[in-house]
Amino acid sequence: MEIGDSPKKTKKIKSITASAPDSRPPPLTWAPEGFNANRGRLLTKDHDVSPSENSGKSCVVLWMSRDQRAVDNHAIVYAQGLAQAQGVPLKVVFNLVPKFLDATIRQFGFMLKGLEEVESNLRAAKIPFYLTSGDPCKSIPKFVQDHDAGTLVCDFSPLRVPTSWTNGVMQECTRLQLPMIQVDAHNIVPVWHASPKLEYGARTIRSKINAVISTYLRDDMPPLSSNIDADKVMSACKPVDWKAALKSLEINREIKEVDWITPGTAAARKMLESFCETKLIHFADKRNDPNTLVASEMSPYYHFGQFSVQRAILHIKSLRRYSEGTASYCEEAVIRRELSDNFCFYNPNYDNLDGIYPWAKESLDLHKADVRNPLYTRDQLEAAETIDDLWNAAQLQMVQIGKMHGFLRMYWAKKILEWTASPEEALATSIYLNDKYSLDGRDPNGYVGCMWSIGGVHDQGWMERSIFGKIRYMNYAGCKRKFDVAKFVQKYPPASSNASRASASKSSNGKNILNFLKKQ
Ligand SMILES: Cc1cc2nc3c(=O)[nH]c(=O)nc-3n(C[C@H](O)[C@H](O)[C@H](O)COP(=O)(O)OP(=O)(O)OC[C@H]3O[C@@H](n4cnc5c(N)ncnc54)[C@H](O)[C@@H]3O)c2cc1C
Repeated sequence: MEIGDSPKKTKKIKSITASAPDSRPPPLTWAPEGFNANRGRLLTKDHDVSPSENSGKSCVVLWMSRDQRAVDNHAIVYAQGLAQAQGVPLKVVFNLVPKFLDATIRQFGFMLKGLEEVESNLRAAKIPFYLTSGDPCKSIPKFVQDHDAGTLVCDFSPLRVPTSWTNGVMQECTRLQLPMIQVDAHNIVPVWHASPKLEYGARTIRSKINAVISTYLRDDMPPLSSNIDADKVMSACKPVDWKAALKSLEINREIKEVDWITPGTAAARKMLESFCETKLIHFADKRNDPNTLVASEMSPYYHFGQFSVQRAILHIKSLRRYSEGTASYCEEAVIRRELSDNFCFYNPNYDNLDGIYPWAKESLDLHKADVRNPLYTRDQLEAAETIDDLWNAAQLQMVQIGKMHGFLRMYWAKKILEWTASPEEALATSIYLNDKYSLDGRDPNGYVGCMWSIGGVHDQGWMERSIFGKIRYMNYAGCKRKFDVAKFVQKYPPASSNASRASASKSSNGKNILNFLKKQ
């Protein structure tokens, strides 16, 4: 069964819907005017902020991590509001780790150029920006102590490594009796308020988000205001040496940076405007055609927080044009994206097969011994050397430009399930390749995309078949019915010649096995 075809549904199967106890945190006890107090949560349970006094402390510190932008950033809005209420300056710090989950110069280069713009935008408002390095669990507490901060504000990510950093810093803040506030500056509806539990799918989270979105989807992100004691704090803050920062990284520099997309908030705004101008009109009906290029290409910006999704949605809605394209974009950028954050927030196994539904696990296990033919190694897949020219082209697109078309990402991951020795290997390989080459990799959307394709997450059981079991299947013929496959393949040589070579070697291998069997 292919995606989009009417499914021959298997009996509806109950999900695990691993539900956590209602973990919605209480709203913040204090927030600046116009700021929705549910966007933040107090991490240091016994140490809350007091807006009226700062206990003689010298500043408020914002630890920027996932949301790397100076404008339209709820974490900054909160931190600056608090600093102003307390009559102290705001300082912003970003901690650069020398390596992060095998990210390469492609992703680090994009991030650092975006941060350079953040620094310059903050400096224009006389807000100092600092770059620390090493283990944030040590460097951030040291920074707040060195700067005599009265409160630490941080942003939010549901992923394992950043969560462990936040927890480590929180423990230190607790020890130092320093209030620490976390603001979800990434989602429109803060993840802990969208739902108190792991959601089954888009269907179940959509109604929850829709029920409250009007209270969040507002222009509640005022521009930066000038800092208190601006000249004094700025004179004490040296500009960041970005060249030295880049040099300090211990990363793979072979996966080159790409030049079709310019990092940073200003470039993101231009990308969004051009999308609205020329592509939004076609987005609803053409977004699954890799030849038409109507996707927004905003995912690298959203991933690094260089552009606010809330600002993008406010902008698109304010145009009041192309209602179908607008609805379709909101479904992807709000519902699907926030569903991914929900999955990673409530499911500690968001990137392994312990995190999939029991029906999917049982079904994949039942087909574990099914023959895989062809069977590829990770190296063969990485080199785009399969019998399938479309798959090769998709892989080459990701390798060459750092972004695979959204529709092909599904096909690509499902074929990895078909061609590797086990579902575990398929999942690990798809995550490895996606994270290595994609500019937007290491994102909740990426883990959920791979888990959807290979593990049926947020999906239902489909007609049983070899290898896939009840996991939704996609095939080449289905792609051919949807778009001009040959046209896409042509764009990425040597996709086609690699496929011919792989086919020839597959059939000669087959003949060799046949001859061997005949001789027995
Ligand atoms: C195997 C696989 C791997 C994926 N890996 C990533 C990844 O590493 N990073 C990533 O951001 N997305 C990933 N996706 C989701 C989706 O394919 C991309 O978000 C999309 O292609 C990004 O391009 P765009 O910004 O031009 O998208 P558009 O079509 O313009 O969509 C706008 C925004 O909506 C959101 N969105 C779109 N599709 C999805 C989706 N299926 N799930 C969740 N949010 C969505 C994204 O934030 C995207 O930027 C993956 C999907 C699959 C099936």
